[in-house]
Amino acid sequence: MTVGRLGVVTIPAGWWVYTGSARRNMDARIARHLRRHKPRRWHLDYLTGDPRVVVVSVTRHAEAECLRNQRNGGIALVPGFGASDCAAGCGSHLRWLEAARAPAATRPGGPVAGLPCPSSKEDPHVR
Ligand SMILES: [Zn+2]
Repeated sequence: MTVGRLGVVTIPAGWWVYTGSARRNMDARIARHLRRHKPRRWHLDYLTGDPRVVVVSVTRHAEAECLRNQRNGGIALVPGFGASDCAAGCGSHLRWLEAARAPAATRPGGPVAGLPCPSSKEDPHVR
């Protein structure tokens, strides 16, 4: 898919976690990211706007965005995604967790901030 200035990126099917922040109006930001149709402003808009992507969980954390992102684990398969203003060396704020098996992060109380799940069939994150 094409993701703004990142250009064409490959998003393999599987479990993904995106970590973002909102200094204010967190509810509105999350609601925006969950809408399929919206102006494309952030990298995440391209992902959540794609009908092949399903958001399965959104969680909030008090810790700083980059710390949370780095604690989520996974692999930064899409360098720079959601990390245009990242100064902590995350590499990407979208991380690929696994290809098939549901990670522990999807269970209640799991450690992950949010999970878009691109699917290889038909049919979703927060800056
Ligand atoms: Zn970061």
